[in-house]
Formats: sequence, C-alpha cells, structure tokens
Amino acid sequence: MHKLRRVKGSPSGYLAEIIDCKSGDRGDRLEALKSRLANRYAVLEAAYTVADLGGVAVSTWTPAARSDLLHCYESTVKSLETLKSLIKQRQPEGLRDLCPYCGIGPAVQFDHYLPKARYPEFSVHSYNLVPCCGPCNGLKSETWLEAGVRVFLNIYIDSLPTAPMLKPSVTWSIRGGRSVPKVSYALVRPAHFRAGKFRIIEKHFEKLELLDRYKDQSHSEFTILRDAALAREANTVATLRRFLLQFLERRKETLGPLNWKVALYEELITHRPFLGECLAT
Ligand SMILES: [Zn+2]
Repeated sequence: MHKLRRVKGSPSGYLAEIIDCKSGDRGDRLEALKSRLANRYAVLEAAYTVADLGGVAVSTWTPAARSDLLHCYESTVKSLETLKSLIKQRQPEGLRDLCPYCGIGPAVQFDHYLPKARYPEFSVHSYNLVPCCGPCNGLKSETWLEAGVRVFLNIYIDSLPTAPMLKPSVTWSIRGGRSVPKVSYALVRPAHFRAGKFRIIEKHFEKLELLDRYKDQSHSEFTILRDAALAREANTVATLRRFLLQFLERRKETLGPLNWKVALYEELITHRPFLGECLAT
C-alpha cells in the first residue's frame, strides 16, 4: 500500500481534450454540457479533502447525458490513453505498475474512486482515476460510503502511517520432510497514528479482504526469499542474515515500509526456523 501523486495539469483541460475527440451528435451533446461539467468539476475539486470528499452530492443526469459521460471513459480515444499514461508516469518508478490499494498485483485497471455509475460526470476526472489491480477494482465496485462515511482510502489524499502497520505471525510445520511456514497477518495501529484516522484504513483492509489476500500470497514470497538466500550460498547464520537484510533494505526502499512483503521479510529474517531452512541444503 502506498500513496499516489496527482497528475499535473488541469482536470478540466483533460476533459476538454477528450470531448474534442467526440464527433457527431454525441460531440454536440457533450459540448452543450461543458458549462454544467465545469460547475461539477469545481464542486469536486473544492471538496477534494480528507474531511469533505465523502460529502460530494450526486447530481441527476438524463439517460442520454449519462450515457455520453460514461462514453468518455468507456470509449478509448488517444487523449484518454494519454491521461491514463500520465497518471502512471507521475508515480515513482518502482511503484508505477503496482496496485496502491493492496501492493499485491499489477495496476492494470483504473478505479473510479467516486463510482462512475453514480457520478458519471467524473468518469475522466484525473483526481478520480486510481490505477489499481483487477481484484481491488472488483471488490471495491460501486461502494465507497457507508452511512455517509468513506470506507476506502483515497490514496491521493488520505494519511498513511510512516511506520509499519502489518504484523505477520509465522508458524512452522513439517511437510514432505521440510519446514513449511504458515503466515497470518494482523493490522496494528502504529503509535502516534490517530485512532480516528486509522478507522478508514481498517475499513479499507476489511472491504478489500487484504489480510486474507496477503496470507494467500505469502508462501510464494517465502520461496522467493529462501531461493534468493540459497543462490548466495550463505552458509552461516551471520552471512545469511547480512544478505537477507540487504535484500530487505532494497525492497523497503522501493516498496516503502507499509508494504506487506516488507513486513513478511522483516518477520522471517528474525525467525530461527526460517534461517535454518535456508541453511539446510
Ligand atoms: Zn490491488
């Protein structure tokens, strides 16, 4: 999980470029909506804060207007592709292709933070487009509020702790003559991170089933880490630990302290059974 930077440039400038690509009756209808769209864009941008974003009211559109607004996103034109590409390029290189909601999968889709089914006018608003993975996009779906309160992190503006917030627990069992780890995760509020701010993180984890998804991913990460250690032919606990710490530091630098892999690696490196498993070949 990591923060995203907002793309530079005016959201209404990107919208105008997309509308300019539309021709015929649809182009004329969208052109006629421009002033209302400018008002709606101003409403969203004024409310684009942690405190106010959940209060953006739904606006009513005719079926034709709604269809035209959704078409702006659903029909690919060069200016939309350019906008999507700029959003991804704005992110740091090591994180550009990683889903910011989970940190597991590649960011191959775009989530509409305010769901486009309810807010079709923001279907191509640059602040509303979040590159993410398919599972996160599917799980988030059209939900974003519960009792008027946001239940997913807006990764452009919400605060994230700077200290780790995932605590993996590793137990070992013998399978096929080898020690095999079983990993589960707990979400913990770091000291000095306010409970009120942490509530949305807890909801985000719950709705995106992150603790279970990290658990499912952990065995392959264990294998990657062990194979990396074995490839280095580290044959004492001291040399192995030194190598693993370097491996961890490199990933922490790229992925940040909140990433689930980083949390797992930090936990495994302190585990005697894991070190023993790496040395037992
Ligand atoms: Zn994801």
